[in-house]
Parts: sequence; structure tokens; C-alpha cells
Amino acid sequence: MRPEIKRAQHTIPVGASSPLRACRNVGTDPLVVAEAHGQYLHDVDGTRYIDFMYGFGPLILGHAPEAVSTAIARQAANGTLFGTYCTQEIELAERITATADHLEQLRFVCSGTEAVMSTLRLARAYTGRTRVLRFNGGYHGHFDLVQNKDETRMRDSGLDPAAMRSNVFAEYNDAASVERAFAESPGEIAAVVVEPIACNMSLVMPEEGFLADLRRICDREGAVLIFDEVITGFRLTYGPASNLLGVSPDLTAFGKIIGGGTPVGAFGGRRDIMRLLDEERVLQGGTLSGNPLTMAAGLATLDALAQPGFYEELERKGALLEAAVERHRAAKGLDFTFTRTGSIFAFIFVPQAAPVRVKADVAAQAQSPYTTMYAGLRTAGYHLAPDIEEPMYVSAETTDETLEDFAARAVALLATDPNT
Ligand code: PMP
Repeated sequence: MRPEIKRAQHTIPVGASSPLRACRNVGTDPLVVAEAHGQYLHDVDGTRYIDFMYGFGPLILGHAPEAVSTAIARQAANGTLFGTYCTQEIELAERITATADHLEQLRFVCSGTEAVMSTLRLARAYTGRTRVLRFNGGYHGHFDLVQNKDETRMRDSGLDPAAMRSNVFAEYNDAASVERAFAESPGEIAAVVVEPIACNMSLVMPEEGFLADLRRICDREGAVLIFDEVITGFRLTYGPASNLLGVSPDLTAFGKIIGGGTPVGAFGGRRDIMRLLDEERVLQGGTLSGNPLTMAAGLATLDALAQPGFYEELERKGALLEAAVERHRAAKGLDFTFTRTGSIFAFIFVPQAAPVRVKADVAAQAQSPYTTMYAGLRTAGYHLAPDIEEPMYVSAETTDETLEDFAARAVALLATDPNT
């Protein structure tokens, strides 16, 4: 073990400020990174790793893109925090709200967690109800109201049982389970919160009609429909993925990409709901929210994403990776599932004929193929997601050679694992 890892774990619980970074689920020591450029991470020994994780999703342009780094440096020289109105904040809010009709107003926060938390509070105030319906396998941040712990473990985990009891669970891709939940809690559900494309149980696409069913049920029941687009926002198109999926929520939570790799979140939606913040009926604030440094990084990022052909090129790379994985898999006669949309992808170790619709389908996979692949690819100079159910990302900096080499090595490693 590197001395820095021991040092980190002495002073910081798990050694880092967010738990998955410790790599406990893959049984390999975490990287200790000194700097990162383009598709590469450089560890403290100067060893280079090709990244497929990109900071859990924000770094769609790769590491330290020049335009973003320059914008941050320029802003840093002119002030990092004003504590009053700033034009960078107005500009970024205007650009994001311009991407979808339902985004009539928007506020910035410092994390995806805060963004979702604020949408739920708004939904409760708007409806006068308290319960929140969400989906097994979804992730919406680390606050009490959106945890999955069962009642018996709540106190051990420091969670408020009352907050937990406001949760109503349904299954992703199963509108009938949503209907049942509403029938069991009539007039009590304030909001349905969903990742429109599920990105925290590997990568699971919404089935045809599922999101439209949620829209219809929420309208009928007077509940607020919230799309958590912390991962998918600006990842698949210039704006929320709801633009591609053809269903508009009432509120959308953003994070990650819109801050260009600096701390960020944002939430926005219908003016008649967001108005509750204007009236100061609903409290939401933050010393560092909408700070000019983050706004400058976000604006520079959106400038790059707005270039013609940006998302088409990412799609081309994603398709190249998928084709390469399929080719090698067929050559080796392996049977596993590879899911991809645009530049998001995941390996799921269930047979291709098995359904991958709900959390239980993903949870049924064997762990060892991923662990084998993770360890082998680390040795070969790759950095993957430190958990089998986290998706991975292609960035604007990922090269075609990288995608070909990665696919060949990944499948060759999988062929060595008895559980693939
Ligand atoms: N929602 C989703 C869908 C996420 O994937 C995440 C984090 N990965 C969050 C919310 C929480 O965001 P943050 O870590 O910035 O608080």
C-alpha cells in the first residue's frame, strides 16, 4: 500500500471525502492522483492512467480543458465570491433555462444532493403533502429523505426514521408499481423523483412509455414530477435528457457537467412552483451558491458543448466502443450485457437474454467479473468506476485508439473470469 493511502486514512474517514473513492468494492488500492490532463490521470509517482470515470461524470470535456481552466483562472483573479448579484450567474441561468420549455426559472446550489433536496422541499410546499415516491436503485444524494436503508438499520445509520417513513418505493420501469403506491397512500404523495435514465444501478434505459406513464399519473394525482438529471443533464444533449425522451417533468435537478468540474448543482422548473422561493415561503440558500468561479467554469463548459457536432462526435465514440466490445465478446463467445447511451456505458454481468429493467435485475449479477476486469485494467493503465453499479463515461478527449484497446483488454480479462 502506498504511504499516502495510510496517511489519508489516518486523518480522513476512508481516506477521502466521499466513500466510493476508497475502492473497497473493487478490492484494489485507490489511485493517489497528482494531476490530470485530457484523458489521463497522473498519479503521485508520475504513472499515467486513462480515465473512464471522469470524476463520477462532470468532466465531459476531459481533464483540465484549456478553455475552462483559463476561465477559472481569469475569474479567480477577479474575485471568487461576491455575495450579491453577478452577471455570470444570470448568464448561466439564462443559458440553462433556454434549453427546455419547462425550465422557466432556476437556482444554483453547490451539489446534486442540494439540488434534489430543494426540489423535494418545493414539491412538498406546493402540494401541501409530505411523502415522496422514488425508485429502488435510484440515487439522489446523501440526505435522509432519499436513503434506502430499511427501518431496522436506520438508527444505526443516523437517519431520521420520520424522514425515512415519508418514502414510498416503486420499481423503475414498472408503472403498475407506481399506481399501487399511489393507491396505498391516497392524497399523500407530494412528488415522484426519478432518474429518467437510471445511472446508479449500472445504466438502465427507461422502457417505452414508462416516463409518459409517470407524467400521466402525476398529473392525475396532483403530484410534482421531478427528473434527477444530475448525471444526464448536458451529458447526452445540450440540455436535459428529457428533451430526448419526450416527457417534461415539473422540476429538474442538475449537477456535475454544468459546473465544469467545480462544486455545483442547480434546480429549476415551472414558474408557479419556483415562485414559492420568490415569495420566500420556501427557504433555500447558500453562501457559495452561484459563485462566480463555478459560473465561469460552467459558462466555458457550455460554450464547448454548444459547438456544432459536439454530441454527435461523442455518440460516434460511444458507438465505436460498443461495437468493439460486441466484436470481442462474440469472438470469445462470452455472454454478458453491455449497455450504452451516448457517452455513458456499463457492463452488466447477466446473460444478454436476461431482462435488465429493474434494480433486482442488476443486483443479480456476479461481482467477480468486474473485480477481475478492474484489477487487470488498472495494471494496464486504466481507471474505472470503483463500483460495479456505477456507470462509466467517454469524454471529448477519449481517443479511438483508447476505445479499441480498452474493449480488447476488458473482454480478454472477462474471458479469464469463471463467472462471466
Ligand atoms: N443524483 C444523482 C442521479 C447522482 O448520480 C448524484 C451523485 N452521483 C447525486 C444526485 C448527488 O450529487 P452530489 O454528489 O453532487 O451531491
